[in-house]
Amino acid sequence: MPAIRQKLLDWYDEAGRDLPWRHTRDPYAVWVSEVMLQQTRVETVIPYYQRFLESFPTPQALAEADEDAVLSCWSGLGYYRRARLLHAGVREVVAQYGGKVPEDADARRALPGVGRYTAGAIGSIAFDKEEPIVDGNVTRVLARLLRIETQVGTSATTKRLWSEAAQLVPGERPGDFNQALMELGAMICTPKRPRCDSCPVTEQCEALARGEVERLPVKRERRPPTEVDLAAVVATRGRGADRQVWLVKGNQPLFGGLWGVPMAEDNARAALTEAGLRARLASAPVGEVEHVLTHRRLRVDVYRASAAQGSESDTRRPFTIEDLEKVGISTLTRKVLAATFRG
Ligand code: SF4
Repeated sequence: MPAIRQKLLDWYDEAGRDLPWRHTRDPYAVWVSEVMLQQTRVETVIPYYQRFLESFPTPQALAEADEDAVLSCWSGLGYYRRARLLHAGVREVVAQYGGKVPEDADARRALPGVGRYTAGAIGSIAFDKEEPIVDGNVTRVLARLLRIETQVGTSATTKRLWSEAAQLVPGERPGDFNQALMELGAMICTPKRPRCDSCPVTEQCEALARGEVERLPVKRERRPPTEVDLAAVVATRGRGADRQVWLVKGNQPLFGGLWGVPMAEDNARAALTEAGLRARLASAPVGEVEHVLTHRRLRVDVYRASAAQGSESDTRRPFTIEDLEKVGISTLTRKVLAATFRG
């Protein structure tokens, strides 16, 4: 472990990029930079970071600013929730701690928008505390260096990564060490084609020794979507230009508050009954559509039913084909209607 630590620090001193936030130990400025760097590229962040600190040079200045001014300074950086949380967190620092970011790790972590990562970055970089940080770059570096073979994103792997990072961080310059780990992930130990020949810790790297660099870290497996068979019924009344289609609202938990045609698992008759409609149901489907949601693949047999009747309410009524364009209907229902009326 000490060898890894020293080699990374020496490499960072020589090869680390000269970035504006690396010239400060002001916890407020470190905080701003860390929040901006979440999900955003370093080159994009630099001018925003500088402008933001010119506009709001202290926690007091940010706390006093109104939200519009803060968001306008953030404008173009995206993920505005980050700016709102930073604003809220800094307001709390001013209200609770007289404008001084707390040195105590628990107090820092209790601030709005400050998770374990941001708290650790502020603690190690600004206060020289031996607090670990784990982000995407650190995850990749540690998974390869220590040959962690479990899936990233599971709670067991997350726990292991934080524990490994916590074992590495104690010693001199914990903030620089954390930044060295992240810098290695950003510059050398990259997701694709890592530059192992320029890496300062090749001798310690277990993945390299075993030729498993490309295999690690192990991505989390996505479960294949569950297949669901549904029957949808396009129940109409009237003919030609007067034709109307019955839609119901809220009977499909999958589609929230949108209007949709009656549907039920594998049974067209049940779909009509559940929707409170009586109609002449065709014996065979007119078509089939497929619809993929995050965890489900829906296979839907589409049936027609005519002379449909039912009582009208806020959640059940017939629409003319023209009116269908004006109400919120689910994508699946759109597909079902297209399969029914095509041609
Ligand atoms: S040797 Fe290669 S895989 Fe190992 S830490 Fe260095 S860059 Fe990453």
